[in-house]
Amino acid sequence: MSKINAEINFYRKQYPELDDLLEFNGTVFDLQQEILEKIETQIQISSEEAKKRIEAGTFLLKDEKFEIDIQLFKEILAKLAFVVRPRHNNPEQVDEILKYFKKLDIPNFLGKIVESKTIYMPEIIGDSDLDAETFFFLVRNSLVPFFKCEADNLKSQVDDSDWVKRMCPICGHEPQNGKFLLENGQYFLQCSLCLMEWSFIRMTCPFCGNDDKDSLKYLYVDEDKEHKAYVCDVCKRYIKVSDERALDRAVNLQLENIVTNYLDALVLEQGYSQLDLPKND
Ligand SMILES: [Zn+2]
Ligand SMILES: [Zn+2]
Repeated sequence: MSKINAEINFYRKQYPELDDLLEFNGTVFDLQQEILEKIETQIQISSEEAKKRIEAGTFLLKDEKFEIDIQLFKEILAKLAFVVRPRHNNPEQVDEILKYFKKLDIPNFLGKIVESKTIYMPEIIGDSDLDAETFFFLVRNSLVPFFKCEADNLKSQVDDSDWVKRMCPICGHEPQNGKFLLENGQYFLQCSLCLMEWSFIRMTCPFCGNDDKDSLKYLYVDEDKEHKAYVCDVCKRYIKVSDERALDRAVNLQLENIVTNYLDALVLEQGYSQLDLPKND
């Protein structure tokens, strides 16, 4: 059994009320693994060169010719849409998204994502009635194997103690969520695309860099003090953080992101967003 499947089984026992959701995500991870096995690593960087770039504050894929295979992207997108559709409260929305992709200039779209720090580019869907949450769920999960393939190859060359930036040292994208390490409480973020983990500074917003304590706070519920959403009043975004010391175990951040979905609902109600969407005020 793969490591992630063993971890899903652990989480399913730990969170029986989320069994269905975890099982669904297990299917998503299996699809990602299937595609990952078809992808060839593109970028080779020597250890010396990697060290130089990290010290200079340049993420490793910057200026590299990294291209996402369009056929494989279409393949995983269609397969993910197929598993999402029956679970969706409005399945026609999934069909609309696939139709939208048929018209979209996909090479241009993928090129933009590689260059950008975020996949959440509202201009991509523009004024359409597409469900943004489903759209970006499909996009992010379709892209993970391509970025992870490069990260798996490059991550042994990254000394994260030399990197305290808000973006991923490998692909330059934003973090998805974070953790305080079991051994020493050190703060780590996980990349939303390549899944690389890197150390960061506590009490600093990983999206806008705000470190003014008065505009940073955290939200949690009494029944689950081990998981908190750190919110920033400057950019109105938040990051969910799992405290491994309080949980007394090493976590899998992809699964932590899923089992804390109640926190997303809680902070959304308070006006914070995980996505970098335009503000109305
Ligand atoms: Zn990354
Ligand atoms: Zn911020």
